[in-house]
Amino acid sequence: MGVHAVTNISTVELPNALTCAGVPARRLKSGAFNGGVAAATSSEFFKSKSLCKPLAKKWDRIIDRLSKESKSRKASSLKGAAKYLAKPGLISLGGGLPSSDYFPFEHIEIRVPTVGQFSEEETKINGQNVKIGKHDVPEGRSAFDLAIALNYGQGTGSAQMLRFVTEHTEIVHNPPYQDWQCIIDVGSTNGLDTLYRMFCERGDYVISEEYTFATAVETAAPLGVKFLGVKIDDEGLIPEDLDQLLENWDEKARCGRKPFLLYTVPSGQNPTGSTQGRARRQEIYKVAQKHDLLIIEDEPYYFLQMQPYMGPNAPPAPLPATHEEFLNSLVPSLLRMDVDGRVIRMDSFSKVISPGARIGWITATSQICERFTRNCEVSTQNPSGFSQVILHRLLDEHWGHTGYLDWLIFIRKEYTQRRDIILQACEKYLPKELASWTPPAAGMFHWIKIAVEKHPDFGKREVVDIEDDIFQASISECVLLSPGSWFVAERGARHTGLFFRATFAAAAGPDMTEAIRRFSIALKKVFEWEQMTCIPRPLSFRVSKKKFGDGECKYLYHTLTFVVLA
Ligand code: PLP
Repeated sequence: MGVHAVTNISTVELPNALTCAGVPARRLKSGAFNGGVAAATSSEFFKSKSLCKPLAKKWDRIIDRLSKESKSRKASSLKGAAKYLAKPGLISLGGGLPSSDYFPFEHIEIRVPTVGQFSEEETKINGQNVKIGKHDVPEGRSAFDLAIALNYGQGTGSAQMLRFVTEHTEIVHNPPYQDWQCIIDVGSTNGLDTLYRMFCERGDYVISEEYTFATAVETAAPLGVKFLGVKIDDEGLIPEDLDQLLENWDEKARCGRKPFLLYTVPSGQNPTGSTQGRARRQEIYKVAQKHDLLIIEDEPYYFLQMQPYMGPNAPPAPLPATHEEFLNSLVPSLLRMDVDGRVIRMDSFSKVISPGARIGWITATSQICERFTRNCEVSTQNPSGFSQVILHRLLDEHWGHTGYLDWLIFIRKEYTQRRDIILQACEKYLPKELASWTPPAAGMFHWIKIAVEKHPDFGKREVVDIEDDIFQASISECVLLSPGSWFVAERGARHTGLFFRATFAAAAGPDMTEAIRRFSIALKKVFEWEQMTCIPRPLSFRVSKKKFGDGECKYLYHTLTFVVLA
């Protein structure tokens, strides 16, 4: 393709990758840890000092493109004063931080899996009770306690959690520039809202895959920000299409500035389940360089990259045997190739720990993180103290980085098994002539393409109406799949594809199989498939429909189906 990289991303050498084993030494080197009440903190305290890495590009354009709202944000005076609290002997009468004497929680206790015994059953038997007390820090039991966590905190998130996610980010992605940072947020939906507010004015466009995470569109819409979709294939967003869209951007025709934000979900994309391979990511990055885009890399499913699908009833591929093997098996992130500092990566614990924790984080240049923090300070203030202290105790002090990677390998195995069940059900029940799919390599979603052109009314009715018939028929059969039209990036635009999204994350194995069987019945009904494919049946079925009531007709229909298929 005709896109030339501004900075050659393929030659980036990543020095001194932090490993799990290297974390204790890193912590020692960082010196005394300040994790007191509302401690001012930054990833800079917890990262390797990689002086051989270049600094991120200085982005005057970022300053230009900041929204009026973001430009006008000042640092919170009250949060700023918290830095003085670390001064030995200081008595504060300054802030409105209540005394922990009045927090009505002496301790909380959680029961969590022991490393290597992660299943619910194993946890019941061999799990460990972990007690989180109010004064664990002064009593030397932990680096974090309820007195700190349940007080006001900083817009960056707590020092304790920030240290963990900064180290984790370095272990997994090792960003190739020096001045990257992490900021903890209240999950990626909150991250997105913040980023739109930072970089968009009403009337601006954000570019994404043509089918995309509905909440990303719906968070933008009330801010007057429109989504525009780029064509996709099995590997997600097509870079050439992105390039063409931007190359031919006509501000007047589009009634909007040339877009500055690309929103993409590279792994296990929601809803299509597609995963961009390494080369695809590099091509997308080059287009972003050419058109000077910021990339929002939304990656809640990054660690749900699964084992390769081996086909029905094939033995599963062996899991990665070591942490190194596991990390090497993951497609490198856009952050990992981000030589310019144009990627804002969003991570979330929602899909790998629990959505109700409402904790995620962004990784971006210090310049972007500074503006992001200003927004958090006066909106969420800080993520929930309960969530932070519980996650910290589990991830940092109970499992540690290695145990967390073990957990991620465990859920990789679980999701692989679930994915395989749904694929086998689809192979068994869905007629190949009507339904097709690509086995997802990551995420929670299976995207089923329906051959709408085979519908008897194709060309006479809108595709969304046929889609709705299938949806309604599915509900009648007691199964719910999400129609593809719910995920169209460009709301209001006419779309011609017919897809359904099924998740393999939720239902138990036998239920998933049954759900696909029911969906297949609904699909065949709407397409009058049995009548089309079984020559002697159409007449007899149509006649019988007149003769019998609805219930009897259904019975007869099933009986006939059984006979014909047998
Ligand atoms: N991004 C994508 C692509 C998602 O699919 C989801 C949830 O479905 C989210 C973000 C939401 O993440 P969070 O729970 O961290 O807000």
